[in-house]
Amino acid sequence: MCSQVYSIRMTARTHDLAAVAALAVAVLVYSPESLTLSTVLVGLLANQLGGITPDIDQPTAPFWRNLPEGHYAGKIFGKLLGGHRFISHSIIGFALFAWLCNLLLHFLHPIMPHVDIQLVWYAFLIGFASHLVMDSFTKEGVPLLLPIPIKIGVPPLKKFRITTGKAVEALVVFPLLLIFIVWLFANHYDTYVSMLRHVSH
Ligand SMILES: [Zn+2]
Repeated sequence: MCSQVYSIRMTARTHDLAAVAALAVAVLVYSPESLTLSTVLVGLLANQLGGITPDIDQPTAPFWRNLPEGHYAGKIFGKLLGGHRFISHSIIGFALFAWLCNLLLHFLHPIMPHVDIQLVWYAFLIGFASHLVMDSFTKEGVPLLLPIPIKIGVPPLKKFRITTGKAVEALVVFPLLLIFIVWLFANHYDTYVSMLRHVSH
């Protein structure tokens, strides 16, 4: 069953790493000046959630597997979102989930006043966007421009794109992402450490 599951989408582990990598780059570019510990923790969580959210259109996604009766909820959501790699893998879907996440964060803000919800929102969006970018490297492509029914992929020639769940993903994409993250942290060690030093409690 697993091979069937992984043949239609990238593994959650690949998306987790891609979300972290994208966040690490954004943090370097943007270098937030004041961070609280709760912003860092909630931001990391939001980033990881953003990285797997587009796949909630699939009942077998990890998001649903971890919830009781999640499989059924996943089926309903999948239908609502038009099936796998449909609305939640488009710019319209990105805007919709950005709006929903913003609503949720404003709703939760009173119970987590030390969290910078703007930064957490960015972390979620970065995770979400990294998912769409990663999926665009696969043969299936992503319907970014919905309702225009074109699937966009990088590179445009399908045969040069990767097949999800196959050896290339596990042996090339995953390790490359890992190497990139290690390289990034090693090269910008001082910047990250000084950022963490300024984290207030
Ligand atoms: Zn996906």
